[in-house]
Amino acid sequence: MRKLPRVLVVEDEPAIAELIAVNLRHNGFAPTVVFDGAAARREVDAVLPDVILLDWMLPGESGASLARQWRKHDRTKTVPILMLTARSDESDKVQGLDAGADDYITKPFSTQELLARIRAVLRRRAPEIVNDSVQVGELALDAGTYRVSFRGNELKVGPTEFKLLHYLMKHAERVHTRGTLLDKIWGDHVFIEERTVDVHVKRLRESLGEAASMVETVRGAGYRLTGLNNTGRPAQGSSTAAA
Ligand code: CA
Repeated sequence: MRKLPRVLVVEDEPAIAELIAVNLRHNGFAPTVVFDGAAARREVDAVLPDVILLDWMLPGESGASLARQWRKHDRTKTVPILMLTARSDESDKVQGLDAGADDYITKPFSTQELLARIRAVLRRRAPEIVNDSVQVGELALDAGTYRVSFRGNELKVGPTEFKLLHYLMKHAERVHTRGTLLDKIWGDHVFIEERTVDVHVKRLRESLGEAASMVETVRGAGYRLTGLNNTGRPAQGSSTAAA
């Protein structure tokens, strides 16, 4: 199953912490909220997060002190840290970056800004876990929210078909053999026959409805997802207003 990026939110103001957590949850992250340094340490010791949002002004141990300690240890030194600062505390930002934070964000911040910063630090430190979105023609897939839509209408796609579609969309216009798809989608499950790919491609086409013909069978070779559909002209970049 797809793993959601774990975000540890260290923030002593419950209202802000809760708002951040709700927004993260809605955008494909798995947040855990703690209110002070001691709880943050316990949480990091128990489960290593993919990114830490660290408030600078905490009761007891400061954010700077926590960051410095996490940076010192092998297990935690590569975890991205995004610090949250109050607008006035210019020196906090400098101290924060000195202490090993990857970036900072100034309160108050918008959800979009926060998500953009989180994705940016993840992309820098751990590019493999950023849930990206991809668009081919009028077909859109958002791995963060697990949504697929065609011409703005949401489509229901099963988990295996979703992975298959994600891969085909990320490598659109290229032909993939059944063997490659098995390897990329199913991993090392050597007991799965290549025919399985055909079964899931069939299901995927059923899920895609009007967009089904974007998944092409290339005889003797495999499958290809194409945005150069039917009309013979690229759907991507056409004048259709995408929402
Ligand atoms: Ca605070």
